[in-house]
Amino acid sequence: MNVCASPEVLLRVASVGICGSDVHYWWRGRTARFVVEGPLVLGHESSATVVTCGPDVHSLKPGDRVAIEPGVPCRRCEHCRGGRYNVCPHVRFCATPPVDGTLTRYYVHPADFCFK
Ligand SMILES: [Zn+2]
Ligand SMILES: [Zn+2]
Repeated sequence: MNVCASPEVLLRVASVGICGSDVHYWWRGRTARFVVEGPLVLGHESSATVVTCGPDVHSLKPGDRVAIEPGVPCRRCEHCRGGRYNVCPHVRFCATPPVDGTLTRYYVHPADFCFK
């Protein structure tokens, strides 16, 4: 069974750095304006190996080792369309509530936010 949507890859996580924000979530339950209100998997600085690719993934193949870019932008707002996706106000960021992070064995992520 392929768990990936079209442009996604299933990753086997290899390593995860522990960032200051992870420590703040762990100790205080919050980082800046982001508050943990339910179970949350931490970790967003990660490397992994591709296990499976969604049907429309052509840039990666099983076995490729990648770094995961943890912030996935909306791709539709003015910032994204202008090429400044790093300031997208709608970004979904690994280990920022309510989005689970990568401190786990397997993680599904958009292929274009995984770098060989
Ligand atoms: Zn970090
Ligand atoms: Zn955007």
